[in-house]
Amino acid sequence: MTLLFLSVNNNINRKARRKEREGIETGTSTDSKLYLEAAVLERKLPDMDMKTLVELPAGLDYNEWLASHTMALFDHVNLVYGTISEFCTNTSCPDMTGPGQRTYLWFDEKGKKTKVAAPQYIDYVMTFIQKTISDENIFPTKYANEFPSSFASIVRKIVRLLFHVIAHLYAAHFREVVLLGLHAHLNLTFAHLMALHHRFSLIDAKETEVLRDLEIALHLSDDSNHESSALNDPTDVDGKDKESESKSHTSDENSK
Ligand SMILES: [Zn+2]
Repeated sequence: MTLLFLSVNNNINRKARRKEREGIETGTSTDSKLYLEAAVLERKLPDMDMKTLVELPAGLDYNEWLASHTMALFDHVNLVYGTISEFCTNTSCPDMTGPGQRTYLWFDEKGKKTKVAAPQYIDYVMTFIQKTISDENIFPTKYANEFPSSFASIVRKIVRLLFHVIAHLYAAHFREVVLLGLHAHLNLTFAHLMALHHRFSLIDAKETEVLRDLEIALHLSDDSNHESSALNDPTDVDGKDKESESKSHTSDENSK
């Protein structure tokens, strides 16, 4: 039913999107969350136990396991964003937004916070990740090479940045995602990221809270203990890890 409604509205998509954006700026955060509607809550491989998928197999190296999941997540996010990227422009998305009026700021190389348009932000994210995972010193592929001691912190940063892209897809482009029939893939990618996070405590709870309602709607978490443990994760406050991340909640505070 919802899907039919979406198709009918395809031709006024641009206008609708503009309205949606105005809604984000002025309205409440509870309206127009298309991604919470029952018809689009499906995901590919619905019977797959995500916990099993991310569980470290006996005999496999922890870093090796994290590396393979990080690269897979990157590929999937890149794929979904690539298909809708023509709709993500400086005009349609002058800010890098997530649900609930969240805005992500980019930290440049000097550690200075800058407001950039979503396509620019996502280009920075994808370029950074591509460069990082191709770096033999960080993501070694040759047998003799070792993972660096900072590997876990680099993975946390990558997963956090990928989460920002996913959050933007849900907040600003879910309509296009559904029209292209990719919502189940996006939901699966989100489920994969969250399962990995729940297993290995990768992102701060302040980051994931913007999609908490979707997490519940997709039945992705059957316990809430991870919330408190993630909050107390001391690894997220080391300076190095913050280099070019967005500490989104700061801009939230500024906008009030
Ligand atoms: Zn966008």
